[in-house]
Amino acid sequence: MIEDLTAYLEDAPTPHHAVAVASGRLLEAGFSELDPTGPWEAEAGEGPAFVRRGGALVAWGAGDGTPHAPLRLVGAHTDSPGLRLRPHPDRTSVGWRSLGVEVYGGALWNSWLDRDLRLAGRLVVREGTGALRSVLLDTRRAIARVPQLAIHLDREVNSGGLRLDPQRHLAPVWGLEPDGPDSVVEALAVENGIDPGDVLGAELLLVDAQGPERLGWRGELLAAGRLDDLVSVWAGLRALLATATSGSSTVPVLVCWDHEEVGSETATGAAGAWLAGILERRVAALGGTRDELLRSLAGSALASADVAHATHPNHPERHDPDHLLVAGGGPAVKHNANARYATDAGSAAAFVDACRSAGVPLQHYSHRNDLPCGSTVGPLVAAGLAVDTVDVGPPILSMHSARELVAVADVEAFVDALGAWLAPR
Ligand code: ZN
Repeated sequence: MIEDLTAYLEDAPTPHHAVAVASGRLLEAGFSELDPTGPWEAEAGEGPAFVRRGGALVAWGAGDGTPHAPLRLVGAHTDSPGLRLRPHPDRTSVGWRSLGVEVYGGALWNSWLDRDLRLAGRLVVREGTGALRSVLLDTRRAIARVPQLAIHLDREVNSGGLRLDPQRHLAPVWGLEPDGPDSVVEALAVENGIDPGDVLGAELLLVDAQGPERLGWRGELLAAGRLDDLVSVWAGLRALLATATSGSSTVPVLVCWDHEEVGSETATGAAGAWLAGILERRVAALGGTRDELLRSLAGSALASADVAHATHPNHPERHDPDHLLVAGGGPAVKHNANARYATDAGSAAAFVDACRSAGVPLQHYSHRNDLPCGSTVGPLVAAGLAVDTVDVGPPILSMHSARELVAVADVEAFVDALGAWLAPR
């Protein structure tokens, strides 16, 4: 199972890649891809089917065809914090070629230093017919690096702490003058057989070139970039594929949003109207009314799947002493009295019940009062659709680092937990 996750992480350097790979797996499993601009027949509503849009995807398994049947949803996000190229990325300085970047989301800046980076993303290309096509690209090899300043030029760095100005100190180098191409986008286009003159848009991310690694004496840990939140996307996908054809009275649904790390207020983010529109069209395809859609939502429940904070062995004081998450102890239900997580007693109980029936161990997380609590898509979707929601996720270390760390046992347990959630007994 873990080899499958590492393969997914390697093939999914960006949200658009994450959705493309997931779509391929759904098609292979017999899901139909629906055209969001075309009419949807009854089979579309009956499923299994899916719709994608950029870095977002909604997929549902086969139900019994009742328009007002309740949904069991798993929601996750495809984006991760990191460095993204600016529209004019090409720079030179004292003989170096470097790249202008913007920080995306709440990245741990220091984790991007002295790391060999590959470049991945998409180019939007004008074809001969006049149509615009989005082409996914990935150098796969390391081409860039953000070099740290030598200790001899920053004598206080170990005792005083590393201070980084994201505008000046995070530009990666990717070659020397006068060698090499002047334009990174042109170079990428040419390498992929695209005429640079046809490129009208670009969205390019820097990605750790080192692949996922098993760590620990028995390989019980997995280190990788983008565990937040691709581990949940992947686990949700596995769980959906395992339950999709059960034809139960509850319809299993997987939703993957983009842009969680920057607030979700986009066309493909969890605060937008996209999911509600898809669910409404699904009910309409089944011949249902808006009243039946609202009946369906009233009985539905969402597990918002995103990583949790494992207790850090070197900083145990940063955690509430009664809610220490043990790596290897199973996924966590995340609680917050101020609704930074959407969990309430009822939704927590439903998730606990599903995990008990599947024999999956669970833990409960609650944040310290003296530290601001993070959040995720759960509260946004709970508010937007008025569905019961529980926030859950496997405990990890180094959240938002370029490389995060998770226990293999928790990943496996999380797949089982989401499977039990999607197909309640
Ligand atoms: Zn996340």
